Parts: sequence; structure tokens; C-alpha cells
Amino acid sequence: MALTPAQSRFRERYRAQISPRYNPFRHLLWVFGTGLLLMGFISATLESVRLLELLVVPLTLIVTNFGEYATHRWLGHDHRRRGSMFYTRHFVEHHGFYSHKSMAIEQGRDLRLVLFPIWLIFAMSLGVIAPLSALLAWLWSTNAAALFAITALASYLLYEFMHLCFHLPADNRLTTLPGVAFMRLRHTVHHDPAHMGDCNFNLTWPMCDWALDTTAREIP
Ligand SMILES: [Zn+2]
Ligand SMILES: [Zn+2]
Repeated sequence: MALTPAQSRFRERYRAQISPRYNPFRHLLWVFGTGLLLMGFISATLESVRLLELLVVPLTLIVTNFGEYATHRWLGHDHRRRGSMFYTRHFVEHHGFYSHKSMAIEQGRDLRLVLFPIWLIFAMSLGVIAPLSALLAWLWSTNAAALFAITALASYLLYEFMHLCFHLPADNRLTTLPGVAFMRLRHTVHHDPAHMGDCNFNLTWPMCDWALDTTAREIP
């Protein structure tokens, strides 16, 4: 852990403004509990799924991977977005708090700057996933709509889980899970101020980084 004096001051200031009522366990429970419950309810609506309908799963994974990449790269790191809510939370706060030399959370409350706010999973579910599912149900079938919603929610939770693992202390077993260690190293490079604007924007699997040639050439 190597904090610069400016980063230490930033962390102190940020922690001081977190509400005393903030509870990291409640935050985890709301995000993962809501996502898993919704996935469970929607799964129960599936009936005699046809092979062709299963195509929705890989297609949704490609779409959500692009969504993750585009949001991170063009909303989280584009300086023209200065002042916007996502830019502030991601570039100013998340990257101000965690650098490649100090990636780990030091206390439970530091989780506030790793997980998305609780309201976002509700906003995404109601504002994006539900309307697209309704469209898919109208155009194709209720199974296709349900498979889309389940995969989109799973992608959201996978993002949260992976990002959490990336910011856990290195001796935590979750950091050594297959796939996690590889993506964790990539995300650590992304947190280097010299690289954050140009590489490793994917956090779950690096499809778009490969396709758009934004994978870091070397590990510093
Ligand atoms: Zn991060
Ligand atoms: Zn970033």
C-alpha cells in the first residue's frame, strides 16, 4: 500500500463525508440480494425453452460487454463529461481513492466507492432491462425476454463481483479465483494514472478491449 500524501488527504476527506448510517454489508446485501431475487423470479417464468431462444444469452453478453466498455470509457473517462454524475463518481472519486499502488479497501466503508449505488440496480431494471424485455417479448417470445433480463442482471452482478474482487486485499482468496486474477491485474494497470484514460476498460471479460485495441501492451 503506497498512498501519496494527496491520496491520503483525499481518502480522509471522502471518508469524513460518508453518512454514519452507511453500512457496507447492507450495501452488498441490497445489490446482490435484489439482483439474485429478480433473476430467480424471472427464471420461474421460463417454459419449454427452445434451442434458438438460448441464442439470446450469448447475444446479451456481447451487448452488456459493450455497454460496460462504452460507459466506462466514454462516460467515466472522457474529460468532456466533467461535472456529470458518472464522471465524478468514477474518474474523480473512484480513481482518486484507488490507484495502481493502493488498490485495496482498508475498511468496510471504503466499499462505498467500489460498488454502484443501490438505486442503480433498480433504475437499470426498470429503465433499461424491463422496456427491452417487453420489446423482445412482443417481437419474439416471453422466454427470449426472460433470458435477456436474466443475462443482463447476471452481467450487472458479475461486474459488481469482479470489481469488488479487484479492490479486496491481495491475500483474500476471492482474488485468486480463475479469471479474477487475470482481470484483476488488468484493472490494476487501468488504475495507473498514466494508463487509465487509454486501456483496459472491460472489467468482466475483455471482449471490447480486444476488439477496439485498448488492451495495455505491457504490464508496468
Ligand atoms: Zn476500480
Ligand atoms: Zn476507470
